[in-house]
Amino acid sequence: MPTLRSDVRAVFFDAVGTLIFPNPSALVVYADVARGVGLDLPPDEVRRRFLAAYRTQENADRAAGWATSEERERTRWHAIVCETLAGVPDPDACFDALYDHFAKPAAWTVNPHAAPTINHLVDRGVVVGLGSNYDARLHSVLDGFPELAPLRDRTVVSAAVGFRKPAAEFFAEVVRLSGCDARQVAFVGDDVENDFDGARAAGLDAVLLAPRGNPDARRVIGELRELVG
Ligand SMILES: [Mg+2]
Repeated sequence: MPTLRSDVRAVFFDAVGTLIFPNPSALVVYADVARGVGLDLPPDEVRRRFLAAYRTQENADRAAGWATSEERERTRWHAIVCETLAGVPDPDACFDALYDHFAKPAAWTVNPHAAPTINHLVDRGVVVGLGSNYDARLHSVLDGFPELAPLRDRTVVSAAVGFRKPAAEFFAEVVRLSGCDARQVAFVGDDVENDFDGARAAGLDAVLLAPRGNPDARRVIGELRELVG
């Protein structure tokens, strides 16, 4: 396993952008919901609004010390939907539709390298788990993907922990569930700040999944399967 340090005993994966991907993309789904209620938004405008709203919520979470909860996640996504779809006649109805959509396995596709990578690790006695900045909806999504079942017993969801990545409290829960020392746990994810830097700061090993590369991070894989050679 060339990408993992030889002393790694547990590997935890980020969910969205690493193991599962919205399909169609979130921006397409948002635009479709808006169009369904009579608001035609150009794709560039949806992207611009979504990113601005997302950034605003990230900044709010940072200012709150990365504390979160099921209620906070609903508030966060409600704000993002309302700002992205500003101009629709009933933003609350659009929020409900989008919130429910992303709770369903049919809204997601799984990384084709996830199953072989996870199975390879399990076969070698490595503890595997999942650590996600998501909410209770992740469990209903996971139910649709039997190939991710080996991760279910060790699934860390930020809304349940009370802190989201990159908070040290989140990674402390990952380490606790792993049953290993922090330095024996590798965290694999696609976000530099939340996954890579957050895990490193908490004393874990980290591997960044970056299909387009990232010159700022030293341990980068372009595809999940590179994790196990
Ligand atoms: Mg991610």
